[in-house]
Order: sequence, then C-alpha cells, then structure tokens
Amino acid sequence: MKLCLKPTIIPFKLDGQVVLRFNGQYAKIPDPHGAVWEFAKALDGRTPYEELITQVAGRYPAVDQDEIRSVAQDLIKYRLVESPDAFETTSLSDHDRIRFSRNIDFFGSMAAVGENKFTHQEKLRTARVCVLGCGGLGTHILFDLVALGVHHLTILDFDTIELSNLNRQILYKETDVGMPKVATARRRLLEFNSHLDITAHETRLQSAQDVAGIVRGHDIVICVADKPANYMADWLNEACVEQGVPFISGGLDVRRSVFYSVVPGSSGCGACWLTSARNKSSLVNSVSTMAKQHDITYEHPGPALVTLVAVTAGMMVSETVKIITGCQPPQLTNKLKEFTFDDLDVSVAEVWQQNPDCTVCGHLADAQRSPQAETV
Ligand SMILES: [Zn+2]
Repeated sequence: MKLCLKPTIIPFKLDGQVVLRFNGQYAKIPDPHGAVWEFAKALDGRTPYEELITQVAGRYPAVDQDEIRSVAQDLIKYRLVESPDAFETTSLSDHDRIRFSRNIDFFGSMAAVGENKFTHQEKLRTARVCVLGCGGLGTHILFDLVALGVHHLTILDFDTIELSNLNRQILYKETDVGMPKVATARRRLLEFNSHLDITAHETRLQSAQDVAGIVRGHDIVICVADKPANYMADWLNEACVEQGVPFISGGLDVRRSVFYSVVPGSSGCGACWLTSARNKSSLVNSVSTMAKQHDITYEHPGPALVTLVAVTAGMMVSETVKIITGCQPPQLTNKLKEFTFDDLDVSVAEVWQQNPDCTVCGHLADAQRSPQAETV
C-alpha cells in the first residue's frame, strides 16, 4: 500500500521527537535516531510503505524495522495518512474537483486509509435538498449549500423583497425591492454557480398535504419558514416523518436562535418533543394550546440581527452536511440547541426521547422493535 501524510497534517522535528499537528491536536512520536522523521518525509504516495520501511531501517542500524512498522500502523490507525490509490475514481467533474478541493481535503481529514475522500462531496452533489423559506436564514443557508456543492435544490417562498429585509437577507439587493423572493434567490444562486438545478415554488403552504407534496422525493428538508406560526412545525413534522425524510428546523427568537433536527426512524420527532415539553411544564402546555385556540400568529415583524442569522445558518448547514454525507453522526437530534447573543454560547436548551406512543412517529419505533426488523 502506498501512503502519504494527509495535506492537513503538519510535521515538526522537536527534541528527539516527531510532532504531527492536526486539527488543533499534537501526536508525539519518539525519534532518538531520526529514522521516524526520515520515514514520515519519505511517505510520498508513490512507493509502497513496506518498501520505505526496509529502506529507512537499512540506513539506521540501531533501529528495528518493527519500530518503524509500528509507527506506520499508528499513522494508519489515527487517520493521519491517506492512500492515493483510493482516489482514482470519482464521478466529480474536473471543474468540481477544483472548485470543491478544500471541502474534499476537509472530508479527507476524517477518512480512514482506503476510503475515497471524494465520496462525501459526491453525496452533496447528488443529494436533493428542499429549503422552505427564503428570508434571512433561508438566504444564508442557500448561499452556504451552494458554496458547499449541493446541486439539486427546491426552494419555496411566497413573499416579496422589502427594504427592511436587506439587513440580513444576503441574496437580495436594493434594486430587487418589490420583486418575488423565490425567483430572485434562484437567479442570484445561478449567478454564483451556473450549473445548479433549482426548482422554485412561489407559493404559500396551507396544509400538511401541501408540505407533503413539496418535500416528497427529497433527501433532506431545511425549514426556516415560520408561517403560519402555529401550524408550520406540525405540518413539516407530519409530512417528513410520514415520508421518512430527515429535516432540520430553526428560527430566531429576539436575542437567541434555536435549531433541531429529526431523522425519522432513528430519532424522536417534533411531536415527541411537544409531548415531553408539555409533561415537564404546564406553562408550555397552556401557551401552545392557547395560541392554537385563539389563532395567535405572532406575525408582527420580529427583530432579526444578521449575526444570529449567520451563526444559526452555519449550525443548520453543518447538521445538513453530517446527515447527507454520514461523515459524522447528527448532533441536533432529540434536542433543541440555542445560540444566545448575550453570552455568545451555543448550548442545549431542551432534550427529549423518541416516544413509543407518539401519534406521528410511534409506528417507526414499533417497526424498529419488531422481530422482522431485528433479523435484518
Ligand atoms: Zn414522534
């Protein structure tokens, strides 16, 4: 096998040790004779590493081949080296390989030897992503998704651009005021990446069936649409759980923002959360019931600071990357996280579990417990 140090690893020679710096951490390898340093520098991805061990050990009589072999095994174990042999096949175009080369090295930093570091970028390229809402969070999220290399997008909004949107809605400019958001967002995104496949819906979602119709066929949904206020979260949850589509939802609440995700079949859903919150607090119970009974919509324009929008969009898109690529497990399931402007902390505001009796996702828990599922 041919190996080279990953491009994200920085090697140093220090006081009889080889120090490898990566991701803010340091690996220290004793190297009293200098053989480890020579071996690390010789890993060029062109010569099988066993051959390099023999060559280097031949020049250092005091060093046993097994000592260098054990260093090589640690480099493999801790994912500090990569094998160029694994990168020979990719469906990415030459354009995309260059455009997204920095992403590819980012994903490569997590890959084991033998894993193709293009795979995660390919998943972003082929994923079908639906973004509901093209306001502050929506425009930041869309810009991030396209920069990441997401190619197939469905976007939805019913609103037109107002001057007061320009404090945070980064896809729009002064001459766009009065224009529909969704068409303008689509045009701006295509200016950024002319290869995109974007389906734009200028429409208002008015029922769970409307949401189901839009989200069908997508790999993930990101919801930053907050209207109608008392129903959107329920409709989204029902539609996505029914179709097995993971979703991420988030919004601003004055000086804090909140965000969470649901992966049907492996996490609790929005209804599990509501049940849990009602059981813990009578206030939540009465406020949510009262809001629906009196159709309190809270539709007056709320304050919205762009820095809260940017941080929240970054969190939600990071979760999107984890769910689409599988590079790491999702971090926003079964919990509500919040970012607060006051102390600039991101923390867990609420936690819940999948409720086996949940009217929306309980049948998925049953399926997981069934004998058939256990034998798969
Ligand atoms: Zn549920």
